[in-house]
Amino acid sequence: MSTEATTHPTRVADAKKVGMVSLGCPKALVDSERILTRLRADGYAMSPDYAGADVVLVNTCGFLDSAKEESLAAIGEAISENGRVIVTGCMGEEADAIRAAHPQVLAVTGAHQYEQVVEAVHEHAPPSQGPYVDLIPQPDIKLTPRHYSYLKISEGCNHSCSFCIIPDLRGKLASRRIDAVLREAEKLVAAGTKELLVISQDTSAYGVDTKHEMRQWPKGPNAREVRAHMTDMARELGQLRTSDDKAPWVRLHYVYPYPHVDRVIPLMAEGLLTPYLDIPFQHAAPSVLKSMRRPANEAKVLERLKKWRDICPDIAIRSSFVVGFPGETEEDFRYLLGWLEDAQLDRVGAFRFEPVEGARANDLPDPVPEELKEERYARLMEVTERISSAKLEAKVGRTLPVIIDEVGEPDEDGDIGATGRSQADAPEIDGAVYLRNVPETLQSGDIVDVSIEDADAHDLFGVISD
Ligand code: SF4
Repeated sequence: MSTEATTHPTRVADAKKVGMVSLGCPKALVDSERILTRLRADGYAMSPDYAGADVVLVNTCGFLDSAKEESLAAIGEAISENGRVIVTGCMGEEADAIRAAHPQVLAVTGAHQYEQVVEAVHEHAPPSQGPYVDLIPQPDIKLTPRHYSYLKISEGCNHSCSFCIIPDLRGKLASRRIDAVLREAEKLVAAGTKELLVISQDTSAYGVDTKHEMRQWPKGPNAREVRAHMTDMARELGQLRTSDDKAPWVRLHYVYPYPHVDRVIPLMAEGLLTPYLDIPFQHAAPSVLKSMRRPANEAKVLERLKKWRDICPDIAIRSSFVVGFPGETEEDFRYLLGWLEDAQLDRVGAFRFEPVEGARANDLPDPVPEELKEERYARLMEVTERISSAKLEAKVGRTLPVIIDEVGEPDEDGDIGATGRSQADAPEIDGAVYLRNVPETLQSGDIVDVSIEDADAHDLFGVISD
């Protein structure tokens, strides 16, 4: 994913301008937002294009080799288009590789080194000083549309999955204070966010490092003690109110199925939490999970999925899986396919195993040949698409709440279409609901009831219900 900052007008005519190219996952996007918010507080303006920028920041992703290539290409493009480039983010940990490919970069800083990246901008494009500097605080910068926002609750990870180098790049789990998380969520909702996407490396582990420290929330006479814990956080987020006095949609991403996850399911049934869980299972075969060294790798997941569905029948489960992990046998792979048939997940993302430089999985014996990875990937996609089609087909005839992402222009008959998402669809990674013939007054961020008329393998189609 690549996101460029939108224009944020400044009242400082001669303010220095910063361009931003943000690559990688939603966590990196949140880092980009924080860096830009800091820079704006220091008097910088944002440039929507390369040409107008005094300096360009490239926030890189260094997780997979393919992401590193994309990062190096983005740095190269920024150098040829602008020439004054500062690199930050996960790939910043590999400053030598970046400098070898692009010796012209002005500075390289790593992930979460907000201070260093801001300092580098000050050094290479010193902020304008003058009597017209605008000291009125402005809202935080967001790189997502106004109606949904990522809420990052912690950084780093205490696990050591053998294919992953995130704990080396980002360190051990460091949870934010619960009152700080809730205050940020409250501000986002007050500014128009209708959907909060809770992210971290391991959302179920939130607060483990701070021993689930208690804080007073909210300020004032209604203050109560709230724990830094996924369940308490979810309950509090569900009690926020949008400008139209509704609960925001709250989605939990990167949830590992620890036993306490069972306690958030009743919150979904109560309407405090969106009935959606993103659980990166990665595999199902015990021997593969063991060599992946996955956390919360326990056998009773299928039973628990069934119980969750009994409590909250509409719960949508999304997951991702890796095929072709070293040592994965045909039997392991068939076990995974059988497990998927039983689990009936709503949304599945699949990846062919790709070695990540520095990961221990690279030293495992029995690598799976590329052609076999491709073949298994195709077989897995066939199964998951069939399941997804049947699940979506079962929604035809129902009326579902849909959040609008985009409203189109009238066609030759004057009809306007719109794209939105049901509660089972997170932005960017899941499917969409396509609406036919919507009123002109419809806007992105509106939540409307939609009669579902059709479905395909990934998306739904319908009209606003009367
Ligand atoms: S849980 Fe595993 S895959 Fe996820 S960040 Fe931690 S080490 Fe990496």
